[in-house]
Amino acid sequence: MPITIAVAGNPNSGKTTLFNALTGLNQYVGNWPGVTVEKKEGVLIGHPEVVLVDLPGIYSLSTNSLEEELARDYLLESNPDAIINIVDGTNLERNLYLTTQLAELGIPMVLAINMMDEVEKSGAKIDGAALGNAFGVPVVEISALRETQIDELARIATLAAQKKGHPLPLHRFSGGVEHALGHIEEVALHQQPEHKQRWYAVKLFERNELVEAELGLSAELKAHIEQDIRQCELEYDDDSDSIIAAERYNFIEDVLEKVTVRKKAGEMSPSDRIDRIVTNRWLALPIFAVMMFLVYYVSVNTVGATMSEWTNDRLFGQIILPAISGALADWGVASWLQGLLVDGILAGVGSVLSFLPQMVVLFLFLGLLEFSGYMARVAFIMDRMFRKFGLSGKSFIPMLIGSGCSVPAIMAARTIENEHDRRMTIITTSFIPCGAKLPVIAMIAGAFFGGKGWVAFGAYFLGIAAVVISGIILKKTPLFQGEAAPFVMELPAYRWPSLKNIFVTTWDRVSSFVKKASTIILLAAIVIWFMTYFGWVDGQFRMLQSGQIDQSIVAAIGNAIAWIFKPLGWGEWRPVVAALSGLVAKETVVSSFGIFYGFGEVAEGGQEIWSSLRAAFSPLSATSFLIFVLLSAPCIATISSIRREMNSAAWTSFAIGYMITIGYSVALMVYQLGTWLQSGAFSAWTGIALALLGLMLWLLFRPSPKAVGSLKQANAGVRG
Ligand code: GDP
Ligand code: MG
Repeated sequence: MPITIAVAGNPNSGKTTLFNALTGLNQYVGNWPGVTVEKKEGVLIGHPEVVLVDLPGIYSLSTNSLEEELARDYLLESNPDAIINIVDGTNLERNLYLTTQLAELGIPMVLAINMMDEVEKSGAKIDGAALGNAFGVPVVEISALRETQIDELARIATLAAQKKGHPLPLHRFSGGVEHALGHIEEVALHQQPEHKQRWYAVKLFERNELVEAELGLSAELKAHIEQDIRQCELEYDDDSDSIIAAERYNFIEDVLEKVTVRKKAGEMSPSDRIDRIVTNRWLALPIFAVMMFLVYYVSVNTVGATMSEWTNDRLFGQIILPAISGALADWGVASWLQGLLVDGILAGVGSVLSFLPQMVVLFLFLGLLEFSGYMARVAFIMDRMFRKFGLSGKSFIPMLIGSGCSVPAIMAARTIENEHDRRMTIITTSFIPCGAKLPVIAMIAGAFFGGKGWVAFGAYFLGIAAVVISGIILKKTPLFQGEAAPFVMELPAYRWPSLKNIFVTTWDRVSSFVKKASTIILLAAIVIWFMTYFGWVDGQFRMLQSGQIDQSIVAAIGNAIAWIFKPLGWGEWRPVVAALSGLVAKETVVSSFGIFYGFGEVAEGGQEIWSSLRAAFSPLSATSFLIFVLLSAPCIATISSIRREMNSAAWTSFAIGYMITIGYSVALMVYQLGTWLQSGAFSAWTGIALALLGLMLWLLFRPSPKAVGSLKQANAGVRG
């Protein structure tokens, strides 16, 4: 019989770090709440019979966001053999609230006090044994990050799981509450297993409807219980669930009094001192802007660009390509196969891979910002701004994850309880440029803007602006109306990011990029190559000679729909097909250009693509192209995760339709208005662009219909 041990605790308490250390797996760890939204299972290293389950973080067992429900249902219904309750030793007071609830479940539990390295550094002291006595559970003081005492923890948890019988919680509520609980157990719960009675009693006392339904209480019984509850509420002059919450906190306070020595009061921690500046009302946004500018500047402009240029020019252009083409020619390989390998695969996949160094640098920096705790502040800072528009700052956490990849970002929207806000977040998250869009950004930046870092930085802020503007516009429509949920996010302490964490995340992201390049992008490159190098010449389907590319299949497809994109300034089949191929994966936009502009043939590296690009686009139409690729429909993987999370075809179509509309309109406005400003020529399209701009501004600034309603009511009230 396998033993199942669930790892439960508050968000950001180190569950996943512990899970990874004990199982050798590599789940995503981030220094902000809401990273793990699904449960993950793994086997304890060296103990194939012990299965560990990493749960999403929860603050209590009584709230209702999707991922909290998942954790709660798991604990209540799957009957794990033991729970490791991991608590953040630097924040015991809040973390132990959940502990008081978990202790009532009747499941053997071990308390792991994590972050002991930080506790020790801060000079605080925790008497673990005394804490364990108060809760009646074994305690192990650990550091998941430094991997101290974690084997001991696993050993004790396994022992606890193997013990027969069910522990009863030690902590008691005050007299009146215990009296009511006792009475409830007696009248309604005597048929339930003993170890579950207390949990049910507390839930019934809180008038939890789920539990009432589960137990199938008769109306008569319910009325009987209600009397007990009422009496207690009268006595304490409070709601039953508030009474329970307050009593839990009292208990914790008492316990902590006995078991901890706090650091000197009044002393500001280094974290607080940094936060004074970084989250300062006036400085916060400029600091954030500078940070992101530096990140993109360094990764696209300096280090990254130098390295990419080298891979592009030297490695691919001058070494790999000539070598391979030479070898293929020497071996007398069939010309179509040479074409496929050189003009298709090498040109396509190679042009994408040449951006690898830039992506490595970007991911390293993002990792650094995440793990230090800075990114969590950004969500906090954004919340201040978002709230002015009735948006929730919670939406920003998925967006932080989205700067890596939109798929996990969309899943992270599960932390948002309000269904309207959750949908809106799903719709807007992929506006934030993910890692896969970086090659496209870097390509345009390189070809048209001298590789300037501000282009990439601009792309990032275009994403944020699109999110904010969409939020404001959508919030005013009946589909999304409603108050933004209050956003209470506790800020994790600043930490020196562990090199291991950063390298693991970067490696994860880079290797999944390489995997993508060798699978889906490779496949797309082969298909695009085939459609580019085959076509009908004089009514005959055959492989094309150079110079006949305009007769290819892609050219036919592209030409058929190019008119749609004419108003955006790039109505030629090549960019049109490249943009559409981005549906497969955003990197494919680059590989398609690589194939069209014969990265292979010119054999001198990316610079040649750049000059072909320069011939095909003006800086203005290139900007419009980039905007369209960045904002309109995301890749297939993202679309399918939107579908999964929305769980509705209608909402999925709405989301994709909305993104395409926004991408198209913004690109149109930029190109048409830009052309007008540059040349002074006013066309019908200029008029349309102006009208669109007007419409957008109106949608943005019109008063919220609800506000108008309540204003009218208020006026009526004054008159009445
Ligand atoms: P989860 O949300 O509970 O899964 O928490 P994570 O495992 O994602 O960890 C949250 C943050 O705390 C990450 O930045 C970890 O590197 C950090 N962390 C985890 N355990 C420790 C520890 O023992 N000491 C220190 N200093 N940091 C830790
Ligand atoms: Mg986690």
